[in-house]
Amino acid sequence: MRFSRLLLPTSKETPNDATLASHIYLIRAGLIQSVGGSGLYNFLPLGKKILDKVRFVVKDELDKAGCLETSLSFVTPMSLWEESGRSEEYGKELLRFKDRKENDYLLSPTNEEAMVNLVRQTVKSYKQLPLNLYQINLKFRDEIRPRFGLMRGREFLMKDGYSFHASFEDMQREFIHMEETYKTIFTRLGLNFRVVEADSGQIGGDGSKEFMILAASGEDDIVVCDKCDYGANVEVATDFKEGDLCKCGAVLRLTKGIEAGHIFQLGTKYSKSLNATFLNEEGKAQAYEMGTYGIGVSRLLAGIIEQNHDDRGCVWTKESAPFTLDIIVANAKDGMQNNLGEQLYKNFRDKHHVDVLLDDRTKERFGPKMKDFELVGIPYALVLGKGVKEGSIELIERKSMEKTVFNFNVEKIDNVEEYDALAGKIVDYLESKDVLPRVF
Ligand code: ATP
Ligand code: MG
Repeated sequence: MRFSRLLLPTSKETPNDATLASHIYLIRAGLIQSVGGSGLYNFLPLGKKILDKVRFVVKDELDKAGCLETSLSFVTPMSLWEESGRSEEYGKELLRFKDRKENDYLLSPTNEEAMVNLVRQTVKSYKQLPLNLYQINLKFRDEIRPRFGLMRGREFLMKDGYSFHASFEDMQREFIHMEETYKTIFTRLGLNFRVVEADSGQIGGDGSKEFMILAASGEDDIVVCDKCDYGANVEVATDFKEGDLCKCGAVLRLTKGIEAGHIFQLGTKYSKSLNATFLNEEGKAQAYEMGTYGIGVSRLLAGIIEQNHDDRGCVWTKESAPFTLDIIVANAKDGMQNNLGEQLYKNFRDKHHVDVLLDDRTKERFGPKMKDFELVGIPYALVLGKGVKEGSIELIERKSMEKTVFNFNVEKIDNVEEYDALAGKIVDYLESKDVLPRVF
């Protein structure tokens, strides 16, 4: 992608309703834009690109874990929620509306009913089980206090998954499998997180776990052990006191987390209320044992920034970064710098499949180009400046702002082999730093 063709309205102004770093930088880096109504955002091109990368990691790991992606209708007939009894229960967060024929509908805040409805129309026998179906779609919750940008929106992107089983034991096996899959997803996104025991209503036991991104700005209070991997939401560890000991003997600590995911052993709650059954091995109708598994995909963008930023801007992780490399042509009117930029850009992109941005803007000086690189938080910048004449360029790591110089033979830079070799050296270096994502 070329910066000269990009829509990236970066800004120095802190939006007045923003207090969290993630909210401030998502807006200042030109990634999202408030629509006006609270908790509603437009994703601008680079914000969308980041969202897609995060979405891809979630999808890739779920697909490998045997889950099947679907896409349910965003609008759900109210009759389904009347069947389950949730139309009464859910309260004001549920956005209800009527169509022209006065039929009642809702904008889905979650989709247990809709997915059970899909399965009850499609699955007949235990032979078709187990099944784990998911989608990554918009959800709408008319939150009482939407705040902190993407952290608590009213419209947000969520992965919601539902598994269907012939036995409680098989559902528990899948629950553990999903816990492992979620750990892989959050690790791959470069997050520092903890799995904590969560409130699971009537079910109890290992019924529910939350995935908490550790951050001082988190809205959840959690109790963690630094010796073993025990953790619990204070909602379940209600009698916890500072200084209490963990089962392993170490002292427990109170800290803050951002809820990024939630997995839940549902049992037969929805399959029974919606009368969703299959024929078991004995030929008898039986209600499905179910699990449900959520990830706040758009909230993850905020969580990643909360853990990865400094006073210059965002510092995206390997697989969430909008680009791996930003080639900054310091003076795009300089023929030599410009030519080298073009050659390297095409080489990285086409030969090495590096997701690269070429800052080829002729109307911006080097200073603002660097500032944009720092604010947006691309992991590396390759600066083609005055040194190009002498055969030297600089690679800057965003996180540490450390520079590494790469040299080439100026005499030969018009030869394909020379910039091929130069790009190759830089790619080897990036490879050695483990910053090239597996796929983009
Ligand atoms: P919270 O306790 O933060 O309100 P929740 O328990 O209501 O979340 P779930 O119903 O478990 O959330 O939804 C699954 C995931 O969706 C959550 O783990 C969270 O990451 C994300 N999520 C929930 N509400 C929002 C929201 N308003 N904006 C962005 N993401 C959200
Ligand atoms: Mg929850």
